[in-house]
Amino acid sequence: MNKVTSKMPRIQQKYEDLSKCLKCGKCLSVCPIYAETKYEQAAPRGRVALIEQAYKGNIDLSEVFRKRLSFCLNCKACVDACPSGVRGDDLILLARAELVDRGKITYIERFIFRFLLKRGRLLPPVAKWATFMGTLANKILPEKNPLTLFLPFPDGWKERIYPKIAKKTVMDTYPEVVKVKNPKMRVGYFVGCGTNMVYPNIADALIKVLTHNDIEVVIPHDQICCGTSIYNSGDFESGIKHAQKNLEVFDKLDIDCIVVACASGGLTLKKEYPELLKAGKFKVPVYDISEFLVDHIDLKKDFKDSHYYPQDAPHPQDATYKLTYHDPCHLNRGQGIKDQPRKLLKLLPNVKFFEMEEADRCCGGGGSFNLKYYPTSKKIMEHKLKNIKKIDVDTLVSGCPGCMMRFEETFLQENIPMKVKHPIEILCDAYGL
Ligand code: SF4
Ligand code: SF4
Repeated sequence: MNKVTSKMPRIQQKYEDLSKCLKCGKCLSVCPIYAETKYEQAAPRGRVALIEQAYKGNIDLSEVFRKRLSFCLNCKACVDACPSGVRGDDLILLARAELVDRGKITYIERFIFRFLLKRGRLLPPVAKWATFMGTLANKILPEKNPLTLFLPFPDGWKERIYPKIAKKTVMDTYPEVVKVKNPKMRVGYFVGCGTNMVYPNIADALIKVLTHNDIEVVIPHDQICCGTSIYNSGDFESGIKHAQKNLEVFDKLDIDCIVVACASGGLTLKKEYPELLKAGKFKVPVYDISEFLVDHIDLKKDFKDSHYYPQDAPHPQDATYKLTYHDPCHLNRGQGIKDQPRKLLKLLPNVKFFEMEEADRCCGGGGSFNLKYYPTSKKIMEHKLKNIKKIDVDTLVSGCPGCMMRFEETFLQENIPMKVKHPIEILCDAYGL
């Protein structure tokens, strides 16, 4: 396609991807949304075609167009499957940004992205209040009542089980520097909202494991939300401000690298700040925690007797966890980190590891996708559940607090007695810390 003068300047940077699409449909077979809907316009090929037509000025950026683009998990399965290298994920985000540039953003999104998420201290009390009110409404209100007209995400509201917001956040628990004697390294810890408010146990485990390995942990308290949900919804301008703030906060630290225990947070800091948002790159490398531990720290010295990397090697006799691992989309396809969490888990004496079928298929969480499109999210999760039920495990492990919340909610709804853990928690237990 020749570069056309388009009224969609953000798409301009990826316009070549539009002409690269062969319309072959390979992406359809992997799209979890298409699998549930069988609807071409809800499939990657259909979305790329819609964006192409809008880019050429043949269709308007209408409400229908907005809805089609909003109905995507950003799971990146279509990108992996595409023989032409079409970045359908980026095209969709850029098209969402075009919509927000035209003022197509809801009041609730404006409030959350442009006010709440910027103010880290306000977020936990607001989240506590919102989850308390949601839980109370669930209990006392009948399913059909006029108040649902005012709910921002009305679908499935009666079924929802909200995550428990921790009594004390990570930022309120730890000092800015967790010191060790004779540190061999200093790392900056980007905590992320999910860990800070819902899973401080992930941070506890990460800090214990790193300090046990003589690594000093720096936790700047002025770090803010990474901005994933913000730019994913198309509000690039607010997303860039989050990127600039976090770059400023971490770049002034005397650290060797930054570690993250959140798949989406890691993807955003590593790739989307410099590439999609063009806000800049951190001075030091950014690592997911499993990548950091497996590729840069010699853990085998601590667990060499129980080391059993080969698939057919016997399981440890006295394992605490019979577990399986779910690949978060933003860790596996987003950052190419698939082996490291498995290597880490298979190294530990407290683990019997069972691989599930389609471990890398999206769980249907997709950040705010599961709030907006709960019935579809649930169907995608049902597919995942079927695969989990085929194996004899008592723990689901994942490197993404977002996926963990979605699994915990589902297991509670279905009365499935499964624990949900982050790999770093299993490692911390193996150390006996
Ligand atoms: S990112 Fe995932 S949900 Fe979105 S179009 Fe691609 S495969 Fe489908
Ligand atoms: S797999 Fe790639 S080339 Fe084929 S239809 Fe999908 S986006 Fe187009």
